[in-house]
Amino acid sequence: MTVLTSDELLTSEIDSYLQRLFPLCRSITGNPNRKTLKILQEIIPLKIVEVPTGTKVYDWEVPVEWNIKDAYIAKQDGTRVVDFNESNLHVVSYSEPVDAFMTWEELEPHLHIHDQLKEAVPYRTSYYKRTWGFCCTHEQYKTLKNYGEKFRVVIDSEFKSGSLTYGEYLLPGKSAKEILISCYICHPSMANDSLSGVILTAFLARHLSNLPDRQWSYRIIFVPETIGAITYCCKNEAAMKNIDFGFVITTVGGPGVAGYKQSFDDRHFINRLTEDALSFQSGEFITYPFDIHGSDERQYSSIGFRINTISITKDKYYEYAYYHSSLDDLDFVKAENIEESLKLYLELVERVEQEIIYRNKLPYCEVMLSKHNLYPQTGGALLPGSSNINSLDIRLWLLFLCDGKKTVSDIAAELSLEPGILLQSAVELESLGVLERY
Ligand code: ZN
Repeated sequence: MTVLTSDELLTSEIDSYLQRLFPLCRSITGNPNRKTLKILQEIIPLKIVEVPTGTKVYDWEVPVEWNIKDAYIAKQDGTRVVDFNESNLHVVSYSEPVDAFMTWEELEPHLHIHDQLKEAVPYRTSYYKRTWGFCCTHEQYKTLKNYGEKFRVVIDSEFKSGSLTYGEYLLPGKSAKEILISCYICHPSMANDSLSGVILTAFLARHLSNLPDRQWSYRIIFVPETIGAITYCCKNEAAMKNIDFGFVITTVGGPGVAGYKQSFDDRHFINRLTEDALSFQSGEFITYPFDIHGSDERQYSSIGFRINTISITKDKYYEYAYYHSSLDDLDFVKAENIEESLKLYLELVERVEQEIIYRNKLPYCEVMLSKHNLYPQTGGALLPGSSNINSLDIRLWLLFLCDGKKTVSDIAAELSLEPGILLQSAVELESLGVLERY
């Protein structure tokens, strides 16, 4: 009997979810999204939430629900040239139903091929403009063009007033302060874009749930990209406004070099911690500066929320040739790659868990030092080995800088002090009742 190591067990577990989840035809709504979340419930007890069609969410509205059973373009003898059962990317997501005989001239405006990759089926969606379409390889396109007779064109899809589905898992920690972890569940059969992030998020959540002494609370969500993230923000506005930083987990399963997309404020400590984790685990990595294009950080970083979110990636979206095509499949993405990225996130979480943040409980104007007994016993004396700063000044700087956002290491770096010295002073101020752990 072969005994598997814990790493090998994890690899085969990740692989089994890749195999099971890959074929589902997910979109921004629909039954395959529910099924995906149900399968993930085997890993973590996430809550599945339904938001009805037509619900107003800020400037948007939850769309009608879309489901599809079958679709094909067939010759007169019934032979299918393009078949939804072979790849769900063959149908433009949110295609309206069709059942007709068509000439090449009628069909051609509804066909999409990949610009560069002849053998790939491109991924196309039409969520908000009612139309239909097929995506095919260059070979299939040629076969259709040369056929010369009418085709049977069928899309057996359905729109209905239903709901948008998302998953949520809240993990309380010592601090009620939350960290956001978000991934998107809306892509059909592509392994790196979307699915790798969904699987990694579930396993990261399981790890966090097993941490005995969690410092932070975690808000872990599985939403359809854009409309799902907007819906979530709208329905959980107060909680989301109280979050300072988080991760958008996506495209973590490619064979390429690891990288990370910075948060909108590159001075936020989550960027420093991410770089430390990447240097420690991978050595080399790519840094992608923040950009207004991208994934759901577009929503979380918006003016109303301003959550600093980073994304660690392995073959980042936009950057790899197979992006948004049928070649982003299980040959390209391996469980081992996802596991490697999971380890990067675990390293990052470990560092996040060690960060300490204090908040001044009396933030309005200066505190009255004598009232709180804040004059140090060693008042006036310079600290040995430190810069030109005495212990009273350290306390004053802490009261000035502990806004609940900067970590003790951030403040130490700002003041060119040893974090240990600063922490000692912060603990004293906590015991005197003017600072609190965040
Ligand atoms: Zn995508």
